[in-house]
Amino acid sequence: MQPSPSTDSAPLVRLSGVGKRFGNGTLALQGMTLDIGAQDFVSFLGPSGCGKSTALRLIAGLTSLSAGRMQWTAPQSSDAHSDRELGFVFQEPTLMPWAKVFDNVWLPLKLAGMGRDEAAPVVAQVLEMVGLSRFADVYPRELSGGMKMRVSIARALVTRPRLLLMDEPFAALDEMTRIKLNNDLLAIWREHRLSVVFVTHSVYESVYLSNRIVVMAPRPGRVVDEIRIDEPYPRGEAFRTSSRYNAHCMAVSDSLHGALNGIDIDH
Ligand code: ADP
Repeated sequence: MQPSPSTDSAPLVRLSGVGKRFGNGTLALQGMTLDIGAQDFVSFLGPSGCGKSTALRLIAGLTSLSAGRMQWTAPQSSDAHSDRELGFVFQEPTLMPWAKVFDNVWLPLKLAGMGRDEAAPVVAQVLEMVGLSRFADVYPRELSGGMKMRVSIARALVTRPRLLLMDEPFAALDEMTRIKLNNDLLAIWREHRLSVVFVTHSVYESVYLSNRIVVMAPRPGRVVDEIRIDEPYPRGEAFRTSSRYNAHCMAVSDSLHGALNGIDIDH
């Protein structure tokens, strides 16, 4: 068994007092201070509008900071296939419908200038990681929702990022598919020594996956608590059905509801 990751080593990314105010005046995120450690699995948990996606997009560089600082503190890995340190998985798989699975996954490498032949073994490797080795030649429309999400994860991993950012990736999937993808994601995370930041509404999902849960509240979007889930990995059905898991879920739920007391939430 592997203990939960430690945050003692140098963080991968350090956020110091990070804030975001949009042009229309909305303060989407205020004063977020957080270290994301190498091999952390961090969840951002909270109701709609508490700034989870904004925080993720800030880390991804998809939107600019309006306050605070963000530092990447660790050196770049030598076997990365591009300068990008991170991969991003959206709630929708966002695949190109006219392109086969191989071409969808190749895309980030193609954009970085890598030809099909050179990319082929790399694409094959990530398709194997997500359990889709036999599906390189099919179109997205031939795949289930869970399989489309697997393609999306493969595409995010093809540049061998150290940080995987995931914005409610499994919210639209049925419960069984979600559990399977949770387990497979944990296996990929452990085997490839990634860091993951995972946005979710679900207390249960955050406790199952994470070693750290960042609890957030809205108006303005902000961090209200951080809870460590000091349970060993791998985590499987035995953990999911344990009294310890239940106790963690109750503690996280209490923290979330305590923070939201008196706040009128828009769903
Ligand atoms: P969450 O992911 O927790 O649901 P978001 O980060 O999407 O929250 O949004 C936080 C707040 O910022 C919300 O009030 C939302 O309406 C607002 N917001 C998000 N994106 C924009 C934008 N591009 N322009 C203006 N306001 C935005």
